[in-house]
Amino acid sequence: MVVDPELLEKAKAAAESLRQAELNAEMAKADYHHAVRLLHLGGATLREVASELGTSHQRVQQIVVAAGGSWWSQVWRNRNARPDMTCTFCGLPSSAVSKLVAGPKVFVCDGCVDKAERTELTTPSRGSRARCSFCGKRPTEGQLVGANGAWMCPGCLGQVRDIMDAEPEIRSK
Ligand SMILES: [Zn+2]
Ligand SMILES: [Zn+2]
Repeated sequence: MVVDPELLEKAKAAAESLRQAELNAEMAKADYHHAVRLLHLGGATLREVASELGTSHQRVQQIVVAAGGSWWSQVWRNRNARPDMTCTFCGLPSSAVSKLVAGPKVFVCDGCVDKAERTELTTPSRGSRARCSFCGKRPTEGQLVGANGAWMCPGCLGQVRDIMDAEPEIRSK
């Protein structure tokens, strides 16, 4: 059997451009999902996001759930903010911090997120079975940071940072 070198070259080039196109599509998809997630984190309901984007409620829900669900919320300057909410990591009340993000039974303030990013918080002792207080997962040893018995994994830290960075106008209708 003879392989035509010219056709082979064409096939290789086509395979390469397909690979590039697939890569670009993956990146565009990740950008799109990220943007949808930010809209929702910013306070827009799934239904509002879906109708603005001309897509289905179910589709938006899939995207949000794939990104960890919708239990995240920003609690500063919104009707969910209560004076008795305190940062689980440093103990400061919501009135004493500029931003506070709520997880399942945990709160984290902007100051503690800054510290977590600078790895200025503590890490669990070696061999500890600590889990992330936000997602409940136990990442590779050495990746959790925290204080006061509350822990955060790198993924959740990124998510909290996204919420804190979300422009206020995103959540206005
Ligand atoms: Zn704090
Ligand atoms: Zn986590």
